[in-house]
Amino acid sequence: MNLILLGAPGAGKGTQSKLLQEKWNIPQISTGDMLRAAKQAKTPLGLQAETFMNAGKLVPDEVVIGLIRERLAAPDTARGFILDGFPRTVAQAEALGGLLKDLNRRLDAVVNLEVPEAELVERLTGRRTCSSCGTGFHLVFSPPRQAGVCDRCGGSLIQREDDQEATIRRRLKVYLEQTAPLVAYYERAGLLRGASGIGSTEEVFARLSSIVGGLSIAGATG
Ligand code: AMP
Repeated sequence: MNLILLGAPGAGKGTQSKLLQEKWNIPQISTGDMLRAAKQAKTPLGLQAETFMNAGKLVPDEVVIGLIRERLAAPDTARGFILDGFPRTVAQAEALGGLLKDLNRRLDAVVNLEVPEAELVERLTGRRTCSSCGTGFHLVFSPPRQAGVCDRCGGSLIQREDDQEATIRRRLKVYLEQTAPLVAYYERAGLLRGASGIGSTEEVFARLSSIVGGLSIAGATG
């Protein structure tokens, strides 16, 4: 099953694609996570990406396309993948189409997680992540038992540098200008499925699971 999870920053792509990964046993591929890891390890690519990321801008297409080309060549993607945060521009979508063609694979669906803008800002400003184990929290929607401390491992909770309010506004603007056109792009390709991203994590996951479940049945019989 080859899926793209599309949606604005804060729509819940990361949370939901991790749950989909567990349920369907196919890897979640997040360019944001890959770039953050490179940034932390201070690799040349990470240092190049850092300035763009901290400013809420997109990292150049050729950089992320290179990462995805390498990642899709890994054997664990043979049974499928969930792309989270890629593609983010029409040029990336076109490059992905070419890569998949070369690999003799095709997309099964592009699921768009829909959340109104006012809620996106509230979600992003309250988001906190454990600096040790990566567990996500939210100051309002899923607060830790003790402020600033991870419930799971006791690590300290941090705010992503690009989750400061001014940067959030910038990321949403970039999304509207550069990524939102992908909704129409994949609709034209007949691949788009819309899903409301409103409600609890479990409610949203139930919606996504029913979409993905429908695809796997169609794939098995079709
Ligand atoms: P994310 O975790 O998906 O919100 O990504 C965090 C940041 O990483 C974005 O604001 C961009 O600066 C960068 N990034 C992640 N994925 C991409 C992509 N597909 N194209 C360009 N930049 C990306």
